[in-house]
Amino acid sequence: MNRSVSLLSRASVGLLATLLVLCCMTGAARAALPDAAAIQAAIDKAYEDYKGLEEGAVADYIPALAKVDPKVYGIALVTTDGKVYTAGDLKTQVSIQSISKVFTMAKVMDESGPQSIYDNMGVDATGQVFNSIVAVEQYKGAEMNALVNPGAIAATGMVKGENYDAIWNSLLNYYSEFAGRKLTVLEDVYKSEAETNQRNQALAMLMYAYGHIEGDPLQATDIYTRQCSVGVNAQDLANMAATLANAGKNPVTGKRVATAENVPEILAVMATAGLYDDSGKWLYRTGLPAKSGVGGGIIAVSPGKFGIAVISPPLDAAGNSIRAQEAIADISNALGGNPYVVQAR
Ligand code: GLU
Repeated sequence: MNRSVSLLSRASVGLLATLLVLCCMTGAARAALPDAAAIQAAIDKAYEDYKGLEEGAVADYIPALAKVDPKVYGIALVTTDGKVYTAGDLKTQVSIQSISKVFTMAKVMDESGPQSIYDNMGVDATGQVFNSIVAVEQYKGAEMNALVNPGAIAATGMVKGENYDAIWNSLLNYYSEFAGRKLTVLEDVYKSEAETNQRNQALAMLMYAYGHIEGDPLQATDIYTRQCSVGVNAQDLANMAATLANAGKNPVTGKRVATAENVPEILAVMATAGLYDDSGKWLYRTGLPAKSGVGGGIIAVSPGKFGIAVISPPLDAAGNSIRAQEAIADISNALGGNPYVVQAR
């Protein structure tokens, strides 16, 4: 065989191999997001479909939450390239409640490394309710996670700062960078929860007794109560979720907020424990790491694609907003948001 033929065949083998690799890569890839009109249509449809849904009840174990308007309903989705899609009420603020736990965990991981969370409260589901004392007793405050109250209060106790004000300001600024605007506390919610948070104080005392809180457990509880009372609208929450979807960089402001390497681990804890006792059911249905709060918000993250948030205060028995679950599941399904779904080869 002459030399030019053999060179040619080597080139074609190379080309074939490249094509094969490309084919496999395309075959196993996640589908791209549909176009802007299709995204908006999915959001509008979910808004209409669940506007009339009147199941569930607003949380009332914190007196101020019982006064929240059950009709508030807003949807916002932000893509990782910073495009914003919305429907419904984007103005009304609710208290962020448990959704804050995600961002406090992120802050501690930024400041002290991801191992600090793993070592202090753990990254496992408890199988118990979010404010369970049994869950603390079971493993002496370990083998839990930063998204249930005892682990969350311990995480707040790990935020660095000279004194109460320094810790609080640093935390609020961090949340604000995720949201892309300066957030503030809903003082009536804070006051109401601070007057009735004896159970959280007890959890904090136990966490302190077992060595998971080093400083003042009552200060940690109070800062935690304040962080739960931060006011957010659907747009704020979607920006926060989209920052996680975008490896820690806020796609709207363009500012890096969280360490990119920590984000997969944050999402893992959200997937495990984000929707209280129904976290497994939610993950089974949507594949999306998410976090709900008793204020009526839910955030969900489709990594690399979008962050979505819905606010609607009426909750189901597990404490998750009913309309928010339905709307997010439908929208994500329409947009191919489930990260476990890859195109068949
Ligand atoms: N501040 C609330 C509490 O500690 C948060 C509960 C929640 O949203 O799950 O009970």
